Amino acid sequence: MALAPKNQRKRFGKGELLQEAPLQPVSDISSCLNKLKKSWERNGSLAGIWENWSELAGSQLSKNCQPISLRRGILTIGASHPQWRQALQYNRSQLLATIKAAGHEIRELKIQQHHPGHKKEKGESEKNIWDKHPSRVDIHGMATCNICKRPSPAGEIALWDKCSFCRRKELFE
Ligand SMILES: [Zn+2]
Repeated sequence: MALAPKNQRKRFGKGELLQEAPLQPVSDISSCLNKLKKSWERNGSLAGIWENWSELAGSQLSKNCQPISLRRGILTIGASHPQWRQALQYNRSQLLATIKAAGHEIRELKIQQHHPGHKKEKGESEKNIWDKHPSRVDIHGMATCNICKRPSPAGEIALWDKCSFCRRKELFE
């Protein structure tokens, strides 16, 4: 699997969030940095909206609708049930005002049908799970297993104090 360049990945909770590529550099370095900073802030605010979603949307809406993406000031909110999409439409201007008042740079709310997976898996894609996998040597590096003394993925040692081989032995023998 090809990984996005580092500047297109962003820490998000324990995983990573893909974000759009930074804008093309321009000759004026400070304006370039400003643009980059703006793009970070813009991307960062979806995380901020996610974090405060129950306060921004209220307990009922937040349980049934969720922010999906934020691009160029347009926040897309998904709801799986038509009734909740209707509720969102009805509350759209109020919700937009609330999110703006909370300091997020949003111009527009878009509402779309969305079938979330399990609610706890918000932002947890397969890629995220693999990124966090303890056996990923390319991310966590290598360490020495405390039991068999063989070089093993550091993520495994950190998690279990032993390599996955020794852990399996311990669990099943
Ligand atoms: Zn071992």
